[in-house]
Amino acid sequence: MSTKRPDVLVQPPSPLTALTLAEMHVRRWTLKATCNRCALKLRASLPALIRTHGPDAVWWGRAPRCPGFECGGGVLTYAAQALRGGSWVAMNQAPGQLAMAAYRSRNPTYAGPRDP
Ligand SMILES: [Zn+2]
Repeated sequence: MSTKRPDVLVQPPSPLTALTLAEMHVRRWTLKATCNRCALKLRASLPALIRTHGPDAVWWGRAPRCPGFECGGGVLTYAAQALRGGSWVAMNQAPGQLAMAAYRSRNPTYAGPRDP
C-alpha cells in the first residue's frame, strides 16, 4: 500500500507554477468557484474559460459576479486543486511580482499575459 500523499506527489497549486488558464489546463488542475452570498458551488471548466477569456488570461485574484439566478450581488471566489485528494488553494490573491517573473522566465519569447 502506498503512503504517498497527493500533496507530495504533485505540488499544490501556486501562481509560481501556473499563472494563466492555459498553464493550469496543461497541469490538469481542477478549479471550483464558490459564491460568498448564496450556496452556489461550481466546478469551473478550464477549456470553457479559455474559450471565453483566452489562454493567457490570469485567473488569480479574479472575483466575478455570481451567475446564480436568485443571487443578489454575490461574488465568486476560486480555488484550485492540482490532484484529486490534494489541497485546495484559494486563488483570491492577485499574482505578485515573483509570480510574474516566474511566468516570464518560463515564456522568455512571450511579452507576458494580457490583462483581460
Ligand atoms: Zn451567489
